[in-house]
Amino acid sequence: MIAKGSADRLKRQGIGSLRDHISALAPFLADHVDDLQSFDDVKLLTVAVDRLPLWHKPGLLCIGDAAHAMSPVGGVGINLAIQDAIAAANLLSASLSGKGPLTDQLLAQVQERREWPTKVIQAFQVVVQKRIISRVLGGTGKVKPPWLLWLFIYFPILRRLPARLLGLGVRRERIAPQARAIPQAANHPR
Ligand SMILES: Cc1cc2nc3c(=O)[nH]c(=O)nc-3n(C[C@H](O)[C@H](O)[C@H](O)COP(=O)(O)OP(=O)(O)OC[C@H]3O[C@@H](n4cnc5c(N)ncnc54)[C@H](O)[C@@H]3O)c2cc1C
Repeated sequence: MIAKGSADRLKRQGIGSLRDHISALAPFLADHVDDLQSFDDVKLLTVAVDRLPLWHKPGLLCIGDAAHAMSPVGGVGINLAIQDAIAAANLLSASLSGKGPLTDQLLAQVQERREWPTKVIQAFQVVVQKRIISRVLGGTGKVKPPWLLWLFIYFPILRRLPARLLGLGVRRERIAPQARAIPQAANHPR
């Protein structure tokens, strides 16, 4: 990760400097950094944290990355995408298997259910970004860990809390029995 806006400076320092940084930070990659011949081999992925105001239109539903861009903090993009998919399956499976109309209200319920957990995790990511990552990337001296991290060192049992929060999300999703058994024909409409 690099601080926002510092990509040009990195480029000016040259590909050799980037190779050296990578080797120093991750020595197990040192044998492979020569694969980076020039900055054409390097892709910049700009971090964004945002959400669509409206996740659906008649005939269209956005979930996962299509509905909300997550920051890499916590590595939760896949978790959120799967949780959205489970919520959508639970809410829409009956209609998709022909047991009722697939209305706009049903699509809206997917957003209603998943928007709040998305906001909570994004708020957590923004706090970590501002309080820890930005300070580390922008700072020159030693960064003092926030007091919460000290608590994790002295009370290891507390480490389970962020793991649960990130792994299971703030609203747990489980596939409902009726959503497990969508008839094959409904999966592949002709
Ligand atoms: C470099 C990188 C590292 C990441 N690391 C992590 C991590 O460690 N942990 C984590 O949880 N998340 C991580 N993520 C985020 C994670 O990959 C995404 O949040 C997650 O894949 C979102 O799932 P999705 O199903 O919403 O979208 P996607 O996985 O992007 O799925 C969308 C699919 O739609 C397909 N598609 C696009 N357009 C069309 C079209 N017109 N027709 C048909 N198909 C189409 C695409 O090919 C793709 O297969 C990372 C992302 C990146 C870029």
